Amino acid sequence: MRDFSGIKEQLLTIRAEMETRLGGIKKDMASPLDHDFAEQAVELENGEVLDALGAEALAEIRKINSALVRLEDGEYGACVDCSVEIPMARLVARPYSSRCIGCAEKQEAVKRR
Ligand SMILES: [Zn+2]
Repeated sequence: MRDFSGIKEQLLTIRAEMETRLGGIKKDMASPLDHDFAEQAVELENGEVLDALGAEALAEIRKINSALVRLEDGEYGACVDCSVEIPMARLVARPYSSRCIGCAEKQEAVKRR
């Protein structure tokens, strides 16, 4: 059994950062639009960018939450596809990795198709 206590800290820290970022994005989006048309167009564009950023932050938070659940269940650190042990270096670099490098690459290849 490997020690993931440092990783758990890391996951919680990243999640807190993402939640702060998401909170900031939501606040920006809630600001009322300017009535000037040109201004409004720019603000709408910004809104779309914020939306994409928000979606990204939300996706990260979901990945982190599922990593924390796997940590609780003692399944963390094993690839969800082939059950091989994910190297510690990979987990430290990307603590919410749920797949080994081989399976992650396969997954990416599927997405690109
Ligand atoms: Zn794998």
